[in-house]
Amino acid sequence: MLNRNERIVTPRSTAVFLLLLLLALAATLPAAAQTSDKKPASALPILPRKLERADLIVSGGTIVTMDASRRLFEDGAIAVKGDTILAVGPRAEIEARYAASRRINARGKLVLPGLINGHTHVPMTLFRGLKDDVTLHEWLTKFIFPAEARNVTEEFVRWGTRLAALEMIRSGTTTFADMYYFEDAIAEETKAAGMRAILGETLIEFPAPDNKTPADTLAYTERFLKRWQGDPLIHAAVAPHAIYTNSEKTLRDSAALARKYHSPILIHVAETQKELEDSRAKNGATPVAYLDRIGLLGPDVLAAHCIWVDEADRKLLAVRQAGCVHNPGSNMMLASGVSPVPEMRAAGVRVGLGTDGPAGSNNDFNLMEEMDLAAKLQKISKMDPQALGAKAALEMATIEGARALHMEKEIGSLEPGKKADLIVIGLDAPNAVPMYDVYSQIVYALKASDVETVVIAGRTVLQAGRVLTLHEAEVIAKAREYGKKVAASLQEAGK
Ligand SMILES: [Zn+2]
Repeated sequence: MLNRNERIVTPRSTAVFLLLLLLALAATLPAAAQTSDKKPASALPILPRKLERADLIVSGGTIVTMDASRRLFEDGAIAVKGDTILAVGPRAEIEARYAASRRINARGKLVLPGLINGHTHVPMTLFRGLKDDVTLHEWLTKFIFPAEARNVTEEFVRWGTRLAALEMIRSGTTTFADMYYFEDAIAEETKAAGMRAILGETLIEFPAPDNKTPADTLAYTERFLKRWQGDPLIHAAVAPHAIYTNSEKTLRDSAALARKYHSPILIHVAETQKELEDSRAKNGATPVAYLDRIGLLGPDVLAAHCIWVDEADRKLLAVRQAGCVHNPGSNMMLASGVSPVPEMRAAGVRVGLGTDGPAGSNNDFNLMEEMDLAAKLQKISKMDPQALGAKAALEMATIEGARALHMEKEIGSLEPGKKADLIVIGLDAPNAVPMYDVYSQIVYALKASDVETVVIAGRTVLQAGRVLTLHEAEVIAKAREYGKKVAASLQEAGK
């Protein structure tokens, strides 16, 4: 039998129990304390956490990420390694984790993804303002075709590309899509300027300044595709000009070549009412339906304009995952029509933004302006101020533009793993204050001249108002020289 007394809890036994409990607890406490700061000298030293190495930290300022949830980080930072973004977030977090030798102080400024110009013809910058305010037909036949025939050489294209690159970098563009002639030279100059681009040699049924037949151009294009395969900045494309300037055979051959090399296809689509009417008469289909019928439309197509597209066309463009590029400045200047941008976006079409050529149809490379025009053109044409807002316009110049180019895994937003293409916009100009809404400010108030810093693939190409990859004064002097030459060549032609 158990001693009953042993089971009686006396005040004395409680005191002993509590003492034992305290001793047991005390034995565990030093062990816990030792893992933090009271460390015996013989054990492993605890150092402050080692910072991870980055190559560049952009710190301070408001980071406009354009990621899926459109996050904004006020007093944010971005860590970059090589050509890639490592991390984006609050400045305190990024600086506690990363160290870098190069820093960009963005305090009091905006940091955005680099802007994407989805459609242009860069060397035509040397024809800027050659003749404006005439019909497209008159502009082409009396001015541009004769001027191109007399002036476009590989040298011309190089200087035109340099001039365009200067203007694009200064206005915050980091990626562009281009189709012209001597595209190999354009690729070399683009790479030298440190810019990212999708480039294609224009395929057209009449003799071009470099290649005289579509067969020659296709052979040129195949060499071009091979040469630039795997380049980190240059994406070589196949670029049939349009359905009305190419035979069905050339269009089919273009698609086959693009698919052989998994390269993009650049083409003008449904730009004018005439193109639509001619296609209906000749092909019994809209330009979009015709391109689908011949097997060209697909997830590798970047279609410039898409103005004259009906509901069925929009569905087709969405289903085939083709990208469209809206060029509001060009469409207004050439009176081509108003692209149904809100309807295309609602149908799920990837819609980007572009300037089109800088001659006769814009006449500059200013995407800051193009965003403003895109929103206002929809508002006025629909008599509805809510038709297209500032945020949508910025999406078209960044993440939606990247989706249109099928490059959304690489560019278009500031996110870890994407390419470090970013711009810093100053907020100290009179037109920049006060600021209530960041998207509204960017699209309707800020100017290309407010862009202060541009980084492409981790490399700073614009710093403190200076383009680091080009000799600006030399390029501008050369452009003036070309201006005189081109004007003289047209006078000569008029005699
Ligand atoms: Zn164009």
